[in-house]
Amino acid sequence: MAPKLYIIIPCYNEEAVLPITAPMFLEKINALAASGKISGDSRVMFVNDGSRDRTWEIIEQLSKQDEHYIGICQSRNRGHQNAVLAGLMEAKDVCDITISIDCDGQDDINAMDEMVDAYLDGCEVVYGVRSSRETDTFFKRFTAQSFYKFLAVMGADVVYNHADYRLISAKVLKEFANFKEVNLFLRGMVPLVGFKSTSVSYSRAERIAGESHYPLKKMIGLAVDGITSLSVKPLQLIMTFGLVVAFISFIGCIWALVTALCGRAVSGWASMTCIICFVSGVQLICLGIIGEYIGKIYMETKQRPRYIISKRTWEE
Ligand code: UDP
Ligand code: MG
Repeated sequence: MAPKLYIIIPCYNEEAVLPITAPMFLEKINALAASGKISGDSRVMFVNDGSRDRTWEIIEQLSKQDEHYIGICQSRNRGHQNAVLAGLMEAKDVCDITISIDCDGQDDINAMDEMVDAYLDGCEVVYGVRSSRETDTFFKRFTAQSFYKFLAVMGADVVYNHADYRLISAKVLKEFANFKEVNLFLRGMVPLVGFKSTSVSYSRAERIAGESHYPLKKMIGLAVDGITSLSVKPLQLIMTFGLVVAFISFIGCIWALVTALCGRAVSGWASMTCIICFVSGVQLICLGIIGEYIGKIYMETKQRPRYIISKRTWEE
C-alpha cells in the first residue's frame, strides 16, 4: 500500500505568504497521490506557532476548503524548532512518512518527489540539502556557511547546508520521541537516531513574501543552542587553552626569576597589567561558556513541555 504522507509546515506570522504557498503544497500532494507514490489520504499540516497576525484564521479557512489541509495551533510562540517538533509528534502515529518544510516557498517543493522515491527505495530519513545559495544575500550566505563550519569545528555534526527540510519516516519518529531534551536542535538530533539515510539536493529560492524570522541575533542563538546541545567540545577547548596558558605562564615565571636573580629586573608595570587583563578576560569567557552549559542543564532539569497544542482544525 502507498505510504501516507504528512507535510509539516511551521508558520509564524505568515499571512502574506500562506495563501500563495498553501495551494502549492496541496498540488504536490495531489500529484504524488495521482502517481501512486503516496496514498490519497495524505495531509498538509500547518503548525501555527502563536502568530500574532491572521495566520491561524487562514489555516482554519483552508481546512474548510479542502480536507487535505489540517492545522494545529501552539498555545504561544515557541520558535521554529518547537513548532516543527509539535507537528512531527502529532503526525507520527497517524502517518507513514513526514516531510517538514518552511512555509515561505524558499525550499523547492519539487524535491519532495525525490525524497519520497528515496523512501520507497528503503531510506528512512532523507535530508534536503541546498545546492546553491545564489538567491540569498551575500551576508545571509556568509553567516549561514560560517554557521555550518563553526558547528563542525565545535564537534556538532550536522549535514552541511541542510536546514529543516527533510523526510522522516514514522518508524524513526517513534524512536526520536524518546529524545526528551528541551533544548532542540533538530538537524543535529535526527542523525543521532540512525537508520538508513540519504540526501537530495535542491536550489534555494527567495522568500515569496513576508520577512525572514532569522536575523543574525537568532542565528547566533541557534548556533549556540546547536553546539551546546550536541557537543561538550567547548568545555574541552577551555581545558586545552588553560593548559597552554599555564605552560606559557610557567616559562614567564622562569624568565622573571632568572632576570631577578641576575639583578636585571625592570619595573614591568605595563607587561603585568596586560597579562592580568588578558587572563581575566579569558577567565570570564570560560566562565561564560561553562555558564551556558549550566543554563542548559537548568532548563533540562525542569522538564517543561516542549510544545502545547491549544487548537486543532479537526474535532477530536
Ligand atoms: N517560524 C516559526 N516560529 C518562529 C519563527 C519562524 O514557526 O518563531 C517558521 C516560519 O514561519 C517559517 C520557518 O519557521 O516557515 C523558517 O523561518 P524563516 O523563513 O523566517 O527563516 P529563514 O528561512 O530566513 O532562515
Ligand atoms: Mg525562510
